[in-house]
Amino acid sequence: MSSYYKPRRIVVAGGGTAGWMTAAALAKTMGDAIDLTLVESDAIGTVGVGEATIPPLINFNRLLGINEAEFMRETQATFKLGIEFENWKRDGEKYFHSFGSTGRDHWSAGFQHFWGEGLLRGHDYSYDDYCLELCAAYAGKFAHLPDNRLNYAYHLNATAYAAFLRRIAEGAGASRVEGKIAHVELDGESGNIAAIGLENGQRLEGDIFVDCTGFRSLLIEGALHVGYDDWSHHLPCDSAIAVQTELSASPVPYTRAIAHDAGWQWRIPLQHRGGNGIVYCSRYLSKDAAHDRLMSTLEGKAISEPRAIPFTTGARRKQWHRNCIAIGLSSGFLEPLESTSIHLIQRAVIRLLRMMPAGEVSERDIAEFNDQQLTDMIQVRDFLILHYKATDRRDSAFWRQCATMDIPDSLTQKMELFRETGRVFRKNDELFVENSWVQVMLGQGILPQAFHPVAKKMSDEELSKFLEMLRTNVARTVQGLPAHHAYVAQFCGAK
Ligand code: FAD
Repeated sequence: MSSYYKPRRIVVAGGGTAGWMTAAALAKTMGDAIDLTLVESDAIGTVGVGEATIPPLINFNRLLGINEAEFMRETQATFKLGIEFENWKRDGEKYFHSFGSTGRDHWSAGFQHFWGEGLLRGHDYSYDDYCLELCAAYAGKFAHLPDNRLNYAYHLNATAYAAFLRRIAEGAGASRVEGKIAHVELDGESGNIAAIGLENGQRLEGDIFVDCTGFRSLLIEGALHVGYDDWSHHLPCDSAIAVQTELSASPVPYTRAIAHDAGWQWRIPLQHRGGNGIVYCSRYLSKDAAHDRLMSTLEGKAISEPRAIPFTTGARRKQWHRNCIAIGLSSGFLEPLESTSIHLIQRAVIRLLRMMPAGEVSERDIAEFNDQQLTDMIQVRDFLILHYKATDRRDSAFWRQCATMDIPDSLTQKMELFRETGRVFRKNDELFVENSWVQVMLGQGILPQAFHPVAKKMSDEELSKFLEMLRTNVARTVQGLPAHHAYVAQFCGAK
Protein backbone atom coordinates (compact mmCIF):
# COMPACT_ATOMS: atom_id res chain seq x y z
CA MET A 1 0.00 0.00 0.00
CA SER A 2 1.44 3.41 -0.86
CA SER A 3 2.50 5.50 2.10
CA TYR A 4 0.10 8.42 1.49
CA TYR A 5 -2.89 6.11 1.71
CA LYS A 6 -4.10 5.59 5.24
CA PRO A 7 -7.14 3.44 5.89
CA ARG A 8 -10.23 5.54 6.11
CA ARG A 9 -12.07 5.22 9.36
CA ILE A 10 -15.69 4.56 8.51
CA VAL A 11 -18.31 4.43 11.23
CA VAL A 12 -21.70 2.95 10.38
CA ALA A 13 -24.30 4.06 12.90
CA GLY A 14 -27.13 1.54 13.07
CA GLY A 15 -27.35 -2.18 12.44
CA GLY A 16 -30.65 -2.77 10.67
CA THR A 17 -30.84 -4.00 7.08
CA ALA A 18 -29.28 -0.73 5.92
CA GLY A 19 -26.40 -0.81 8.40
CA TRP A 20 -25.40 -4.39 7.72
CA MET A 21 -25.85 -4.15 3.94
CA THR A 22 -23.55 -1.12 4.04
CA ALA A 23 -21.02 -2.74 6.34
CA ALA A 24 -20.91 -6.03 4.41
CA ALA A 25 -20.47 -4.37 1.02
CA LEU A 26 -17.87 -1.86 2.22
CA ALA A 27 -15.85 -4.38 4.21
CA LYS A 28 -15.91 -6.98 1.46
CA THR A 29 -14.98 -4.53 -1.29
CA MET A 30 -12.57 -2.20 0.46
CA GLY A 31 -10.83 -4.74 2.66
CA ASP A 32 -7.97 -3.24 4.66
CA ALA A 33 -8.21 0.08 2.82
CA ILE A 34 -10.82 0.93 5.43
CA ASP A 35 -11.19 0.57 9.13
CA LEU A 36 -14.89 -0.09 9.61
CA THR A 37 -16.89 -0.02 12.83
CA LEU A 38 -20.63 -0.51 13.13
CA VAL A 39 -22.46 0.56 16.24
CA GLU A 40 -25.94 -0.66 17.06
CA SER A 41 -28.17 -0.79 20.07
CA ASP A 42 -29.72 -4.09 21.15
CA ALA A 43 -32.08 -2.15 23.39
CA ILE A 44 -33.47 -0.10 20.50
CA GLY A 45 -33.56 -2.91 17.94
CA THR A 46 -34.59 -2.52 14.29
CA VAL A 47 -37.79 -1.54 12.53
CA GLY A 48 -38.40 -5.27 12.05
CA VAL A 49 -40.19 -5.14 8.70
CA GLY A 50 -39.08 -5.21 5.08
CA GLU A 51 -39.63 -8.62 3.62
CA ALA A 52 -40.32 -8.20 -0.07
CA THR A 53 -37.51 -7.46 -2.51
CA ILE A 54 -36.92 -6.94 -6.22
CA PRO A 55 -34.54 -8.75 -8.61
CA PRO A 56 -31.40 -6.57 -8.32
CA LEU A 57 -30.87 -7.97 -4.81
CA ILE A 58 -29.57 -11.10 -6.54
CA ASN A 59 -26.68 -9.02 -7.91
CA PHE A 60 -25.98 -7.52 -4.51
CA ASN A 61 -25.76 -10.98 -2.97
CA ARG A 62 -23.46 -12.10 -5.79
CA LEU A 63 -21.22 -9.12 -5.16
CA LEU A 64 -20.85 -10.37 -1.61
CA GLY A 65 -20.13 -13.90 -2.79
CA ILE A 66 -23.25 -15.26 -1.10
CA ASN A 67 -24.37 -18.82 -1.82
CA GLU A 68 -28.02 -18.57 -2.78
CA ALA A 69 -29.22 -21.78 -1.14
CA GLU A 70 -27.50 -20.88 2.12
CA PHE A 71 -28.94 -17.38 2.00
CA MET A 72 -32.44 -18.75 1.44
CA ARG A 73 -32.11 -21.23 4.28
CA GLU A 74 -30.84 -18.59 6.68
CA THR A 75 -33.48 -16.01 5.80
CA GLN A 76 -36.35 -18.49 5.34
CA ALA A 77 -36.76 -16.97 1.90
CA THR A 78 -39.18 -17.86 -0.84
CA PHE A 79 -39.06 -16.80 -4.47
CA LYS A 80 -41.04 -13.81 -5.65
CA LEU A 81 -42.14 -13.31 -9.24
CA GLY A 82 -44.07 -10.08 -8.80
CA ILE A 83 -46.92 -8.42 -6.96
CA GLU A 84 -50.64 -8.99 -7.26
CA PHE A 85 -52.66 -5.81 -6.84
CA GLU A 86 -56.21 -6.42 -5.68
CA ASN A 87 -58.96 -3.76 -5.57
CA TRP A 88 -56.73 -0.98 -6.87
CA LYS A 89 -58.53 -0.10 -10.06
CA ARG A 90 -61.93 -1.05 -8.66
CA ASP A 91 -63.12 -3.14 -5.73
CA GLY A 92 -63.12 -6.80 -6.80
CA GLU A 93 -60.67 -6.45 -9.70
CA LYS A 94 -57.02 -7.42 -9.71
CA TYR A 95 -53.91 -7.27 -11.84
CA PHE A 96 -50.32 -8.41 -11.62
CA HIS A 97 -47.06 -6.51 -11.85
CA SER A 98 -44.46 -9.12 -12.71
CA PHE A 99 -40.72 -9.08 -12.99
CA GLY A 100 -39.28 -9.70 -16.44
CA SER A 101 -40.94 -8.90 -19.71
CA THR A 102 -44.19 -9.65 -21.51
CA GLY A 103 -44.36 -11.09 -25.02
CA ARG A 104 -41.62 -9.96 -27.33
CA ASP A 105 -40.80 -6.36 -28.22
CA HIS A 106 -39.96 -5.19 -31.71
CA TRP A 107 -37.11 -2.65 -31.85
CA SER A 108 -39.60 -0.02 -32.93
CA ALA A 109 -42.47 -0.88 -30.61
CA GLY A 110 -43.14 -2.60 -27.32
CA PHE A 111 -45.15 -5.82 -27.22
CA GLN A 112 -48.24 -3.99 -25.97
CA HIS A 113 -48.74 -2.63 -29.49
CA PHE A 114 -48.96 -6.11 -30.98
CA TRP A 115 -51.21 -7.33 -28.21
CA GLY A 116 -53.40 -4.22 -28.63
CA GLU A 117 -53.61 -4.67 -32.37
CA GLY A 118 -54.66 -8.26 -31.68
CA LEU A 119 -57.45 -6.98 -29.43
CA LEU A 120 -58.67 -4.68 -32.20
CA ARG A 121 -58.76 -7.67 -34.54
CA GLY A 122 -60.80 -9.77 -32.14
CA HIS A 123 -58.19 -11.74 -30.17
CA ASP A 124 -59.43 -11.68 -26.62
CA TYR A 125 -56.37 -13.01 -24.80
CA SER A 126 -55.24 -11.09 -21.76
CA TYR A 127 -51.90 -9.29 -21.75
CA ASP A 128 -51.10 -11.56 -18.81
CA ASP A 129 -51.05 -14.69 -20.97
CA TYR A 130 -47.81 -13.55 -22.58
CA CYS A 131 -45.79 -13.13 -19.41
CA LEU A 132 -43.86 -16.12 -18.11
CA GLU A 133 -43.28 -14.78 -14.59
CA LEU A 134 -46.93 -13.88 -14.20
CA CYS A 135 -48.28 -17.22 -15.43
CA ALA A 136 -45.75 -19.14 -13.31
CA ALA A 137 -46.73 -17.07 -10.27
CA TYR A 138 -50.43 -17.81 -10.66
CA ALA A 139 -49.68 -21.49 -11.28
CA GLY A 140 -47.67 -21.49 -8.02
CA LYS A 141 -44.57 -22.71 -9.84
CA PHE A 142 -40.90 -21.84 -9.90
CA ALA A 143 -37.46 -23.03 -11.03
CA HIS A 144 -34.19 -21.42 -11.96
CA LEU A 145 -34.19 -21.39 -15.75
CA PRO A 146 -31.16 -21.04 -18.04
CA ASP A 147 -30.27 -17.49 -19.12
CA ASN A 148 -32.34 -16.11 -16.22
CA ARG A 149 -35.48 -16.67 -18.24
CA LEU A 150 -37.56 -16.50 -15.11
CA ASN A 151 -36.83 -13.22 -13.34
CA TYR A 152 -37.26 -13.36 -9.62
CA ALA A 153 -36.54 -11.79 -6.27
CA TYR A 154 -37.17 -13.00 -2.72
CA HIS A 155 -39.49 -12.74 0.22
CA LEU A 156 -37.19 -12.88 3.22
CA ASN A 157 -36.87 -12.41 6.93
CA ALA A 158 -35.07 -9.05 7.00
CA THR A 159 -33.84 -9.51 10.57
CA ALA A 160 -32.24 -12.82 9.60
CA TYR A 161 -30.79 -11.18 6.48
CA ALA A 162 -29.14 -8.50 8.61
CA ALA A 163 -27.69 -11.21 10.89
CA PHE A 164 -26.43 -13.10 7.84
CA LEU A 165 -24.77 -9.96 6.49
CA ARG A 166 -23.27 -9.25 9.88
CA ARG A 167 -21.31 -12.50 9.68
CA ILE A 168 -20.03 -11.51 6.24
CA ALA A 169 -19.08 -8.01 7.38
CA GLU A 170 -17.31 -9.24 10.50
CA GLY A 171 -15.60 -11.96 8.47
CA ALA A 172 -14.27 -9.24 6.17
CA GLY A 173 -12.85 -7.20 9.02
CA ALA A 174 -15.69 -4.97 10.26
CA SER A 175 -15.98 -4.55 14.01
CA ARG A 176 -19.23 -4.23 15.87
CA VAL A 177 -19.84 -2.14 18.94
CA GLU A 178 -23.00 -2.55 20.98
CA GLY A 179 -24.25 0.57 22.67
CA LYS A 180 -26.61 3.47 22.54
CA ILE A 181 -25.53 6.63 20.75
CA ALA A 182 -25.91 9.48 23.23
CA HIS A 183 -24.47 12.39 21.27
CA VAL A 184 -22.80 13.34 18.03
CA GLU A 185 -19.69 15.49 18.21
CA LEU A 186 -19.08 18.06 15.48
CA ASP A 187 -15.72 19.48 14.51
CA GLY A 188 -15.90 23.21 15.33
CA GLU A 189 -13.97 24.28 12.25
CA SER A 190 -15.26 22.09 9.42
CA GLY A 191 -18.67 21.26 10.78
CA ASN A 192 -17.94 17.61 9.98
CA ILE A 193 -18.90 14.87 12.37
CA ALA A 194 -15.81 14.17 14.45
CA ALA A 195 -17.07 11.36 16.67
CA ILE A 196 -20.07 9.56 18.08
CA GLY A 197 -20.36 9.33 21.84
CA LEU A 198 -22.10 6.33 23.38
CA GLU A 199 -24.05 6.20 26.63
CA ASN A 200 -21.37 3.95 28.14
CA GLY A 201 -18.77 6.69 27.58
CA GLN A 202 -17.15 5.11 24.54
CA ARG A 203 -16.18 7.55 21.76
CA LEU A 204 -16.00 6.46 18.10
CA GLU A 205 -13.97 8.75 15.86
CA GLY A 206 -14.20 8.53 12.09
CA ASP A 207 -13.46 10.13 8.73
CA ILE A 208 -16.81 9.12 7.24
CA PHE A 209 -20.04 8.40 9.09
CA VAL A 210 -22.88 6.45 7.53
CA ASP A 211 -26.21 7.21 9.17
CA CYS A 212 -28.23 3.99 9.23
CA THR A 213 -30.13 4.84 12.40
CA GLY A 214 -33.52 4.37 10.73
CA PHE A 215 -36.37 6.83 11.14
CA ARG A 216 -34.45 8.43 14.05
CA SER A 217 -31.88 9.76 11.61
CA LEU A 218 -29.57 10.74 14.44
CA LEU A 219 -26.63 11.98 12.41
CA ILE A 220 -27.81 13.53 9.15
CA GLU A 221 -30.85 15.17 10.74
CA GLY A 222 -30.25 15.09 14.47
CA ALA A 223 -26.75 16.53 14.23
CA LEU A 224 -26.52 18.06 10.75
CA HIS A 225 -30.14 19.25 10.30
CA VAL A 226 -30.31 18.79 6.53
CA GLY A 227 -34.11 19.00 6.43
CA TYR A 228 -36.79 16.73 4.95
CA ASP A 229 -38.99 17.09 1.88
CA ASP A 230 -42.45 15.86 2.76
CA TRP A 231 -44.12 14.02 -0.17
CA SER A 232 -47.30 13.05 1.63
CA HIS A 233 -49.34 15.29 -0.61
CA HIS A 234 -48.82 12.73 -3.37
CA LEU A 235 -48.60 9.64 -1.19
CA PRO A 236 -50.97 10.32 1.71
CA CYS A 237 -50.60 7.04 3.64
CA ASP A 238 -48.70 7.78 6.86
CA SER A 239 -49.06 4.73 9.10
CA ALA A 240 -48.54 1.00 9.08
CA ILE A 241 -49.19 -1.91 11.42
CA ALA A 242 -47.26 -5.13 10.85
CA VAL A 243 -47.86 -8.60 12.27
CA GLN A 244 -46.56 -12.09 11.54
CA THR A 245 -48.75 -15.15 11.14
CA GLU A 246 -48.47 -18.88 10.89
CA LEU A 247 -48.62 -20.07 7.30
CA SER A 248 -52.12 -21.13 6.36
CA ALA A 249 -51.15 -22.60 2.96
CA SER A 250 -48.10 -23.30 0.82
CA PRO A 251 -46.29 -20.02 0.14
CA VAL A 252 -47.15 -18.49 -3.22
CA PRO A 253 -44.31 -16.97 -5.25
CA TYR A 254 -45.71 -13.45 -5.18
CA THR A 255 -46.58 -10.59 -2.84
CA ARG A 256 -50.19 -9.54 -2.44
CA ALA A 257 -51.10 -5.85 -2.14
CA ILE A 258 -54.78 -5.54 -1.34
CA ALA A 259 -56.30 -2.07 -1.43
CA HIS A 260 -58.95 -1.02 1.09
CA ASP A 261 -60.89 2.18 1.49
CA ALA A 262 -58.04 4.11 3.13
CA GLY A 263 -54.86 2.39 1.95
CA TRP A 264 -53.84 -1.21 1.44
CA GLN A 265 -52.65 -4.44 3.09
CA TRP A 266 -49.70 -6.69 2.28
CA ARG A 267 -49.27 -10.45 2.45
CA ILE A 268 -45.77 -11.83 2.11
CA PRO A 269 -45.28 -15.59 2.45
CA LEU A 270 -41.94 -16.85 3.78
CA GLN A 271 -41.03 -20.51 4.20
CA HIS A 272 -42.08 -20.67 7.82
CA ARG A 273 -44.50 -17.79 8.35
CA GLY A 274 -46.45 -15.01 6.72
CA GLY A 275 -45.70 -11.30 6.86
CA ASN A 276 -48.79 -9.13 7.02
CA GLY A 277 -49.45 -5.49 7.42
CA ILE A 278 -51.79 -2.66 6.80
CA VAL A 279 -50.76 0.70 5.36
CA TYR A 280 -53.26 3.50 5.81
CA CYS A 281 -53.90 7.19 5.87
CA SER A 282 -54.60 8.24 9.46
CA ARG A 283 -56.81 11.08 8.25
CA TYR A 284 -59.36 8.54 7.08
CA LEU A 285 -58.78 5.52 9.31
CA SER A 286 -58.03 5.48 13.03
CA LYS A 287 -55.26 3.32 14.46
CA ASP A 288 -57.80 1.16 16.30
CA ALA A 289 -59.87 0.63 13.19
CA ALA A 290 -56.76 -0.20 11.14
CA HIS A 291 -55.67 -2.67 13.82
CA ASP A 292 -59.08 -4.35 13.85
CA ARG A 293 -59.18 -4.53 10.08
CA LEU A 294 -55.73 -6.10 9.91
CA MET A 295 -56.40 -8.63 12.65
CA SER A 296 -59.83 -9.61 11.34
CA THR A 297 -58.55 -10.30 7.84
CA LEU A 298 -55.47 -12.36 8.71
CA GLU A 299 -55.10 -15.74 7.06
CA GLY A 300 -53.44 -17.85 9.76
CA LYS A 301 -52.92 -17.28 13.47
CA ALA A 302 -50.93 -14.23 14.60
CA ILE A 303 -47.55 -15.20 16.09
CA SER A 304 -46.20 -11.73 16.91
CA GLU A 305 -47.52 -8.63 18.59
CA PRO A 306 -48.86 -6.13 16.04
CA ARG A 307 -46.35 -3.31 15.61
CA ALA A 308 -47.50 0.21 14.70
CA ILE A 309 -45.12 2.28 12.57
CA PRO A 310 -45.98 5.90 11.78
CA PHE A 311 -44.08 7.49 8.88
CA THR A 312 -43.89 10.53 6.67
CA THR A 313 -43.25 9.83 3.02
CA GLY A 314 -40.42 11.93 1.67
CA ALA A 315 -36.68 12.36 1.32
CA ARG A 316 -33.88 14.05 3.21
CA ARG A 317 -32.93 17.24 1.37
CA LYS A 318 -29.35 16.01 1.32
CA GLN A 319 -28.48 12.37 1.69
CA TRP A 320 -24.77 13.13 1.81
CA HIS A 321 -23.79 16.19 3.81
CA ARG A 322 -20.26 17.01 4.95
CA ASN A 323 -18.76 13.64 5.96
CA CYS A 324 -22.10 11.95 6.64
CA ILE A 325 -24.11 9.77 4.27
CA ALA A 326 -27.64 8.63 5.11
CA ILE A 327 -28.63 5.17 3.92
CA GLY A 328 -31.90 3.38 4.59
CA LEU A 329 -34.83 4.84 6.48
CA SER A 330 -32.69 7.73 7.70
CA SER A 331 -32.48 8.96 4.09
CA GLY A 332 -36.23 9.05 3.52
CA PHE A 333 -39.12 6.69 3.09
CA LEU A 334 -41.42 5.54 0.33
CA GLU A 335 -44.15 3.16 1.36
CA PRO A 336 -43.44 -0.50 0.59
CA LEU A 337 -46.00 -0.81 -2.24
CA GLU A 338 -43.40 -1.84 -4.83
CA SER A 339 -40.83 -3.25 -2.37
CA THR A 340 -38.24 -0.60 -3.18
CA SER A 341 -36.63 0.33 0.17
CA ILE A 342 -34.06 -2.44 0.37
CA HIS A 343 -33.28 -1.77 -3.26
CA LEU A 344 -32.70 1.91 -2.56
CA ILE A 345 -30.31 0.87 0.20
CA GLN A 346 -28.47 -1.31 -2.29
CA ARG A 347 -28.27 1.57 -4.80
CA ALA A 348 -26.96 3.96 -2.16
CA VAL A 349 -24.33 1.51 -0.91
CA ILE A 350 -23.04 0.82 -4.41
CA ARG A 351 -23.08 4.53 -5.18
CA LEU A 352 -21.08 5.24 -2.04
CA LEU A 353 -18.57 2.58 -3.04
CA ARG A 354 -18.22 4.13 -6.47
CA MET A 355 -17.67 7.55 -4.94
CA MET A 356 -15.49 6.47 -2.04
CA PRO A 357 -13.26 9.47 -1.31
CA ALA A 358 -9.55 8.92 -1.85
CA GLY A 359 -8.60 11.82 0.38
CA GLU A 360 -10.72 14.77 1.47
CA VAL A 361 -14.42 14.43 0.66
CA SER A 362 -15.06 16.23 -2.64
CA GLU A 363 -18.02 18.59 -2.90
CA ARG A 364 -18.44 17.26 -6.46
CA ASP A 365 -18.90 13.73 -5.16
CA ILE A 366 -21.43 15.00 -2.67
CA ALA A 367 -23.39 16.88 -5.32
CA GLU A 368 -23.32 13.90 -7.68
CA PHE A 369 -24.38 11.45 -4.99
CA ASN A 370 -27.25 13.64 -3.85
CA ASP A 371 -28.46 14.23 -7.37
CA GLN A 372 -28.43 10.53 -8.26
CA GLN A 373 -30.07 9.50 -4.99
CA LEU A 374 -32.84 12.03 -5.32
CA THR A 375 -33.46 11.06 -8.94
CA ASP A 376 -33.87 7.41 -7.86
CA MET A 377 -36.32 8.34 -5.15
CA ILE A 378 -38.37 10.66 -7.34
CA GLN A 379 -38.65 8.03 -10.04
CA VAL A 380 -39.88 5.45 -7.54
CA ARG A 381 -42.22 8.02 -5.97
CA ASP A 382 -43.83 8.77 -9.33
CA PHE A 383 -44.34 5.09 -10.07
CA LEU A 384 -46.05 4.68 -6.69
CA ILE A 385 -48.27 7.71 -7.28
CA LEU A 386 -49.53 6.06 -10.47
CA HIS A 387 -51.15 3.29 -8.39
CA TYR A 388 -53.22 5.83 -6.46
CA LYS A 389 -53.96 8.32 -9.19
CA ALA A 390 -55.05 6.07 -12.05
CA THR A 391 -58.04 4.45 -10.40
CA ASP A 392 -61.77 4.18 -10.94
CA ARG A 393 -62.29 4.02 -7.18
CA ARG A 394 -64.40 6.86 -5.78
CA ASP A 395 -65.98 4.85 -2.95
CA SER A 396 -64.22 6.65 -0.08
CA ALA A 397 -62.85 10.07 0.77
CA PHE A 398 -59.33 8.59 0.56
CA TRP A 399 -59.75 7.39 -3.02
CA ARG A 400 -61.53 10.57 -4.07
CA GLN A 401 -58.57 12.54 -2.73
CA CYS A 402 -56.12 10.31 -4.64
CA ALA A 403 -58.06 10.44 -7.88
CA THR A 404 -58.30 14.21 -7.87
CA MET A 405 -54.85 15.13 -6.52
CA ASP A 406 -52.45 16.97 -8.79
CA ILE A 407 -49.47 14.90 -9.84
CA PRO A 408 -45.95 15.67 -11.12
CA ASP A 409 -45.86 16.81 -14.76
CA SER A 410 -43.48 13.99 -15.70
CA LEU A 411 -46.03 11.43 -14.52
CA THR A 412 -48.89 13.16 -16.35
CA GLN A 413 -46.78 13.03 -19.52
CA LYS A 414 -46.16 9.32 -19.07
CA MET A 415 -49.79 8.44 -18.39
CA GLU A 416 -51.20 10.58 -21.19
CA LEU A 417 -48.60 9.43 -23.70
CA PHE A 418 -49.59 5.85 -22.96
CA ARG A 419 -53.30 6.66 -23.10
CA GLU A 420 -52.99 8.39 -26.47
CA THR A 421 -50.36 6.25 -28.21
CA GLY A 422 -49.68 3.08 -26.20
CA ARG A 423 -46.06 4.20 -25.89
CA VAL A 424 -43.94 4.29 -22.76
CA PHE A 425 -40.27 5.12 -22.45
CA ARG A 426 -37.83 4.28 -19.71
CA LYS A 427 -36.03 7.48 -18.82
CA ASN A 428 -32.63 8.16 -17.23
CA ASP A 429 -31.92 4.59 -16.27
CA GLU A 430 -35.01 4.49 -14.07
CA LEU A 431 -35.65 1.41 -11.98
CA PHE A 432 -39.00 0.48 -13.46
CA VAL A 433 -38.75 -0.65 -17.06
CA GLU A 434 -41.40 -0.34 -19.78
CA ASN A 435 -43.04 -3.66 -18.90
CA SER A 436 -43.64 -2.45 -15.33
CA TRP A 437 -45.26 0.75 -16.51
CA VAL A 438 -47.41 -1.05 -19.09
CA GLN A 439 -48.63 -3.67 -16.63
CA VAL A 440 -49.51 -1.15 -13.95
CA MET A 441 -51.07 1.35 -16.34
CA LEU A 442 -53.22 -1.34 -17.97
CA GLY A 443 -54.01 -2.81 -14.56
CA GLN A 444 -55.07 0.55 -13.18
CA GLY A 445 -57.36 1.02 -16.17
CA ILE A 446 -55.43 3.21 -18.65
CA LEU A 447 -56.19 1.74 -22.06
CA PRO A 448 -54.32 3.09 -25.08
CA GLN A 449 -56.44 4.74 -27.77
CA ALA A 450 -53.99 3.78 -30.52
CA PHE A 451 -51.17 1.36 -31.21
CA HIS A 452 -48.00 1.55 -33.25
CA PRO A 453 -48.46 1.29 -37.04
CA VAL A 454 -45.78 -1.39 -37.25
CA ALA A 455 -48.29 -3.79 -35.66
CA LYS A 456 -50.93 -2.81 -38.20
CA LYS A 457 -48.53 -3.79 -40.95
CA MET A 458 -48.83 -7.44 -39.98
CA SER A 459 -51.39 -9.53 -41.78
CA ASP A 460 -54.08 -11.23 -39.69
CA GLU A 461 -52.32 -14.53 -40.15
CA GLU A 462 -48.89 -13.19 -39.19
CA LEU A 463 -50.23 -11.50 -36.10
CA SER A 464 -52.24 -14.55 -35.00
CA LYS A 465 -49.28 -16.85 -35.45
CA PHE A 466 -46.95 -14.49 -33.60
CA LEU A 467 -49.29 -14.12 -30.64
CA GLU A 468 -50.11 -17.79 -30.49
CA MET A 469 -46.45 -18.77 -30.60
CA LEU A 470 -45.69 -16.53 -27.62
CA ARG A 471 -48.67 -17.76 -25.61
CA THR A 472 -47.85 -21.37 -26.31
CA ASN A 473 -44.23 -20.91 -25.28
CA VAL A 474 -45.28 -19.38 -22.00
CA ALA A 475 -47.88 -22.06 -21.29
CA ARG A 476 -45.49 -24.88 -22.20
CA THR A 477 -42.70 -23.50 -20.03
CA VAL A 478 -45.02 -23.03 -17.07
CA GLN A 479 -46.33 -26.55 -17.45
CA GLY A 480 -42.82 -27.93 -17.12
CA LEU A 481 -42.01 -26.03 -13.93
CA PRO A 482 -42.15 -27.66 -10.49
CA ALA A 483 -44.38 -26.39 -7.69
CA HIS A 484 -42.80 -23.40 -5.96
CA HIS A 485 -42.88 -24.82 -2.44
CA ALA A 486 -41.40 -28.14 -3.55
CA TYR A 487 -38.65 -26.35 -5.42
CA VAL A 488 -37.82 -24.15 -2.43
CA ALA A 489 -37.59 -27.19 -0.16
CA GLN A 490 -35.37 -29.07 -2.59
CA PHE A 491 -33.19 -26.04 -3.39
CA CYS A 492 -32.68 -25.06 0.24
CA GLY A 493 -31.94 -28.65 1.16
CA ALA A 494 -29.09 -28.76 -1.36
CA LYS A 495 -25.63 -27.85 -0.08
P1 FAD B 1 -33.79 0.16 11.20
O1 FAD B 1 -34.15 -1.24 10.90
O2 FAD B 1 -34.74 0.95 12.04
O3 FAD B 1 -32.37 0.14 11.91
C1 FAD B 1 -31.90 1.22 12.64
C2 FAD B 1 -30.68 0.81 13.41
O4 FAD B 1 -30.18 1.95 14.09
C3 FAD B 1 -30.95 -0.24 14.46
O5 FAD B 1 -29.89 -1.16 14.53
C4 FAD B 1 -31.01 0.55 15.76
O6 FAD B 1 -30.67 -0.20 16.88
C5 FAD B 1 -29.97 1.61 15.44
N1 FAD B 1 -30.13 2.79 16.28
C6 FAD B 1 -31.12 3.70 16.26
N2 FAD B 1 -30.92 4.63 17.23
C7 FAD B 1 -29.76 4.27 17.85
C8 FAD B 1 -29.01 4.81 18.93
N3 FAD B 1 -29.41 5.89 19.60
N4 FAD B 1 -27.88 4.18 19.28
C9 FAD B 1 -27.43 3.09 18.63
N5 FAD B 1 -28.11 2.54 17.62
C10 FAD B 1 -29.26 3.12 17.24
N6 FAD B 1 -38.48 -2.51 2.41
C11 FAD B 1 -38.47 -3.39 1.41
O7 FAD B 1 -37.52 -3.39 0.60
N7 FAD B 1 -39.49 -4.28 1.25
C12 FAD B 1 -40.57 -4.28 2.06
O8 FAD B 1 -41.45 -5.12 1.89
C13 FAD B 1 -40.64 -3.32 3.07
N8 FAD B 1 -41.72 -3.25 3.88
C14 FAD B 1 -41.77 -2.24 4.82
C15 FAD B 1 -42.93 -2.07 5.57
C16 FAD B 1 -43.00 -1.01 6.47
C17 FAD B 1 -44.27 -0.80 7.24
C18 FAD B 1 -41.90 -0.17 6.67
C19 FAD B 1 -41.95 0.95 7.68
C20 FAD B 1 -40.76 -0.35 5.95
C21 FAD B 1 -40.68 -1.37 5.01
N9 FAD B 1 -39.56 -1.53 4.23
C22 FAD B 1 -39.55 -2.44 3.23
C23 FAD B 1 -38.38 -0.73 4.49
C24 FAD B 1 -37.37 -1.55 5.26
O9 FAD B 1 -37.93 -2.04 6.45
C25 FAD B 1 -36.17 -0.69 5.59
O10 FAD B 1 -35.73 -0.03 4.45
C26 FAD B 1 -35.05 -1.54 6.09
O11 FAD B 1 -35.47 -2.36 7.12
C27 FAD B 1 -33.91 -0.69 6.54
O12 FAD B 1 -34.15 -0.11 7.78
P2 FAD B 1 -32.96 0.65 8.46
O13 FAD B 1 -31.83 -0.29 8.61
O14 FAD B 1 -32.73 1.91 7.73
O15 FAD B 1 -33.56 1.05 9.88
